[in-house]
Amino acid sequence: MVIDLQKCVGCNSCTVACRAEQGTPAGVHFHKVVKYEAGRYPNAKMKFLPMPCMHCQNPPCLKVCPTGATYQCEDGLVLIDHDKCIGCRACMVACPYETRHFLWDVACYFDGQLPTPFEQVKQDSFDRGTVVKCNFCVQRLVQGRLPACVETCPSQARTFGDLDDPESEASRLIVLHRGTRFREELGTEPSVYYIKG
Ligand code: SF4
Ligand code: SF4
Repeated sequence: MVIDLQKCVGCNSCTVACRAEQGTPAGVHFHKVVKYEAGRYPNAKMKFLPMPCMHCQNPPCLKVCPTGATYQCEDGLVLIDHDKCIGCRACMVACPYETRHFLWDVACYFDGQLPTPFEQVKQDSFDRGTVVKCNFCVQRLVQGRLPACVETCPSQARTFGDLDDPESEASRLIVLHRGTRFREELGTEPSVYYIKG
């Protein structure tokens, strides 16, 4: 995934699309947009850093998982098998990007109310006592669709593609704009690149 920080306006449409697609319970975020100030008055401005799971090619979360619940697919996705997850949370400690959440409970958004029919359907798919995170919308990828955040972004700040294919739009953008990865010095080899297009 390539994210153009020059195009991101911090609208959080991606965050909302993620919530709608995944049905994440209250308090659980698969995706966040970090906001921060840069520069000094009178030249200060707000900046935004969208952060999904980085689907690291050298994922520290996988190495510490004692049960094999965290695994890596051939295409590079890092996923969790919830039947194997024992909720020890070692992966949460190991992940330097804080993209994992422990699911204590499946809470509704509106206190004291029954879940909406939409929440009910989605909530049934979550296993309490396990760790959850962004899966790059693998359920959409297998249908030939894009992740919800990519499809929704009104600024078209996100590009999704095959990094092994030098001709893909994602690879082309990384080369053209000298893409960088977050905390690259850790050797995690994230699959999310940031550019300033
Ligand atoms: Fe694992 Fe964290 Fe990397 Fe995602 S961002 S693959 S959870 S180490
Ligand atoms: Fe593996 Fe689950 Fe423990 Fe994370 S919490 S290390 S996925 S068993």
